[in-house]
Amino acid sequence: MLDTTMTEALAGVLRGNLLTPDNPGYDEARSLFNGMIDRKPSMIAQCTGAADVVTCVNFARENGLPLSVKGGGHGVAGKALCNDGVVIDLSLMNGVLVDPELKTAQVQAGALLGDLDHETQKFGLAVPAGVDSRTGVAGLTLGGGNGHLARRFGLTIDNLQSVDIVTADGELLHANESQHQDLFWALRGGGGNFGVVTSFEFRLHEVGPEILTAQIFHLFDDAREVIRFYRDFMADAPKELGCICLVLRVPPMEPFPEEHHGKMAVALIANDSRKEATEENTPLQELASFGNPILSAVMPIQYAALQSQFDAGFPKGARYYWKSHYFQSLPDEAIDTILENAGTLPGEYSNYGLETMGGAINEADQSATAFPHRNAKFGLGIFANWADESRDEEAIDWARRFHEAMKPFSTGGGYVNYLPVDAGDEFKESYGNNFERLREIKQRYDPQGLFDAHQRLVTR
Ligand SMILES: Cc1cc2nc3c(=O)[nH]c(=O)nc-3n(C[C@H](O)[C@H](O)[C@H](O)COP(=O)(O)OP(=O)(O)OC[C@H]3O[C@@H](n4cnc5c(N)ncnc54)[C@H](O)[C@@H]3O)c2cc1C
Repeated sequence: MLDTTMTEALAGVLRGNLLTPDNPGYDEARSLFNGMIDRKPSMIAQCTGAADVVTCVNFARENGLPLSVKGGGHGVAGKALCNDGVVIDLSLMNGVLVDPELKTAQVQAGALLGDLDHETQKFGLAVPAGVDSRTGVAGLTLGGGNGHLARRFGLTIDNLQSVDIVTADGELLHANESQHQDLFWALRGGGGNFGVVTSFEFRLHEVGPEILTAQIFHLFDDAREVIRFYRDFMADAPKELGCICLVLRVPPMEPFPEEHHGKMAVALIANDSRKEATEENTPLQELASFGNPILSAVMPIQYAALQSQFDAGFPKGARYYWKSHYFQSLPDEAIDTILENAGTLPGEYSNYGLETMGGAINEADQSATAFPHRNAKFGLGIFANWADESRDEEAIDWARRFHEAMKPFSTGGGYVNYLPVDAGDEFKESYGNNFERLREIKQRYDPQGLFDAHQRLVTR
């Protein structure tokens, strides 16, 4: 149990703020992207650097307090917050240092993807990461990190060169391919189970400031043919092409024809990241000319704009319950099962998407990093997103039933970064053969389970 003397003692040695329930700013600091999560920590430490993080880790361990780590606060499972314990809030640590000559970026663990793109794009460089600019670099990277550029350059973890991490005993370690190799292996996909990462070092690639994209919307009536075409097209596509196939509602705005606003549609959001790609010479034209789209454009846009294109469709504070699968192939029967079981999207913002894997993602071996889904050609994200609490049951039920129906086609488990709050066995399944090695490494670095607020790797 915490008393004020202890809280004051901690506040006195931190450079950052220590927020308790009486402080203004406490509620804002404990708010997460997923509005379903409502947890009340005893204190939120807004750390300014590794020194504060070491202090907080030692404080929580020595006082037997629950501990959680908040990066961008975007995790749908809400593991960034604990009840009645200490939250290490990294939001003030959002610096990004780019070395344009070495093509590397040193990124503090509270930076968001938008911060990272802002700094790297100035030099026409990018780290392959996710597709929402408000996502935390930390949580995304620790779970794998998949986005528009992954088929060309690999997952975010495939571009990670090193990390600085504070472990459960309060040590600050530097982990890379030659130092603390086992820990570095685990951190590339194994999530926040091993300590508090304070900074990441990434390899950068020449991308932007403009990138050639295709933005294609078809009416849902044509979904079967469109998804089959997308599957066949991407099966033979060069790895410089990325494409997400999303079933969603047509946004009620220009340039979408008004008569289609709010109706279900299939969107193909693709990119050709080659420097020499033009509207005339890109294979994206073939994708854009298929069928009878209600909107179809192949054009260069700012890379940073592509990276924030989905932000408005996923409002902060709405309710989120996600599930996922990976597939080695997508036979017609699987597409039929998707269309028969997904039915009508529940709530305003729900959607589901096929993410194209393959390319550089599959060049790494399944055991090369903790992220095991290296043989998958497609991922399916089932995104139940809605605003009104009274629809919780309907939306969650939709995601669960849809997920269950797709199990016969799945490679087993899903993407840990898309797990819902009640993931249970899905967490273990999502690591496949890599799970046992993760457990061993967890025993070595966090035998007491100080970081179990993330997900349980040690069964006690
Ligand atoms: C709208 C939306 C779009 C998304 N799009 C993509 C996408 O395109 N590609 C993709 O791969 N994923 C995507 N994701 C999933 C995203 O990768 C995860 O939600 C990720 O966990 C978010 O990281 P965060 O730091 O913001 O989250 P947080 O909620 O802060 O953290 C998530 C987990 O990581 C732990 N953690 C955070 N920081 C640290 C740290 N420094 N050290 C140790 N542990 C830490 C937390 O304790 C928590 O358990 C998306 C999520 C949302 C909500």
